[in-house]
Amino acid sequence: MKLAFFGATEGVTGSCYLLECDTGKLLIDCGMHQGERTASAENMAPFAFDVKSVDAVIVTHAHFDHTGRLPQLVKAGFAGTIYMTPPTKGITEIVLEDSLNVMRDQARKHGEPIPFAEPELKAALLLMKGVGYHTPFQPVPNVDVTFNDAGHILGSSFVTIDAEGKRIVFSGDIGNDDVPILPDTEVLDHADVVVCESTYGNKDHQPVHDRGDELGAYVTEIIGRGGTLLIPAFSVERTQELLYELDLLMQSGHIPRVPFYLDSPLAIRATTLYQQYSAYLQFDHPASPDGNFFSFPTLRATLTMKESLMIDNDRRPKVIIAGNGMMNGGRILRHCKKYLNDEKSGVLIVGFQAPMTTGRKIQEGAREVLIDHERVPVMATIKTIEAFSAHGDRGKIARWLHPKNGAMPKVFLVHGEPHIKIAFAEYLREHGIIDVSIPKTQQVFEV
Ligand SMILES: [Zn+2]
Repeated sequence: MKLAFFGATEGVTGSCYLLECDTGKLLIDCGMHQGERTASAENMAPFAFDVKSVDAVIVTHAHFDHTGRLPQLVKAGFAGTIYMTPPTKGITEIVLEDSLNVMRDQARKHGEPIPFAEPELKAALLLMKGVGYHTPFQPVPNVDVTFNDAGHILGSSFVTIDAEGKRIVFSGDIGNDDVPILPDTEVLDHADVVVCESTYGNKDHQPVHDRGDELGAYVTEIIGRGGTLLIPAFSVERTQELLYELDLLMQSGHIPRVPFYLDSPLAIRATTLYQQYSAYLQFDHPASPDGNFFSFPTLRATLTMKESLMIDNDRRPKVIIAGNGMMNGGRILRHCKKYLNDEKSGVLIVGFQAPMTTGRKIQEGAREVLIDHERVPVMATIKTIEAFSAHGDRGKIARWLHPKNGAMPKVFLVHGEPHIKIAFAEYLREHGIIDVSIPKTQQVFEV
């Protein structure tokens, strides 16, 4: 078999790999590169492989950096089936629809081209097929594909492909341990080859169980001094975990009962899907008194722009959870313009910030950022809680890579910044996983 790398080789976004078997070609993930602009050269460029010869696509999970280019793939002539778990199908639909709205907005504001439009989005959605965990299927003859729970977001999977006597596993994104609303990552039974993410390949996270206390303390601090707390939201998963923790903190009286706004249409729609697919979740706490894990009395969801603009009139200390998570688009930017220059206010970062994004600049201590051509001084307090990370740290992934049965796999590292992949390869070798490669874009391996 031939394994080729077409994305997530230079950074953490744009996942896209091609596996060529005797009986057909499978594309694993087809994600957008995320940085300063969606309409970047790499997202607008044609695919570097023969799209029409791809027989099927396998999607590990719904995040935009794993699904964002599916409509472009269809526009370029792909007409096969796109396989994913049923919750992934639901979330992918809202993620792609939301991204189209955001891209149209950017096009209006900055005259940027749009990578895809409504017709190819609709066509891509029609090709998507949901398949549950642990249910092998054959997208091409004699090739068995199985989804296992990766514990990263609702419906996320690592993908096992059995073909020609070998087992190739694509990690997708591997979740953190002990996430209070998700099952843990399933065990890797055995594998010959693993294409593995390395987002936090140089880090050990703080334990997840401390994060509720830290969150409560920071909310209380900002509110206590009369400020507004901005939480740039990763709409799928992180937001639902935050709402779950905030619900518990409010029930137990650990945070003040001030107004909380959920100001992200995508996060609001995703939260509905989390409720709908709650059988796929695993809660570490008994049911919330109101029967809803993601809601509490002072939380208000502002779906429409009119409702969102009303938040501007609320002068009370408050918390605003708004997309997007890296502050390179979405409603959070309007709130940033209003509150970043206020020293009483604060920002809470709860997820990975890609280089060049406003979020990364603020996280690294920028005293001023440029938002919609406006210079905004940063006077607010900035805090990061890494335990909200949706990715496992290096120890977690190294443990996961040790198979339950059989020999150590050959590992290809993707989905990490270059210096982090080098550090992670070293770490893995120290932990007994010797055969580790860092592929380059368009590099092809015989596996
Ligand atoms: Zn992800």
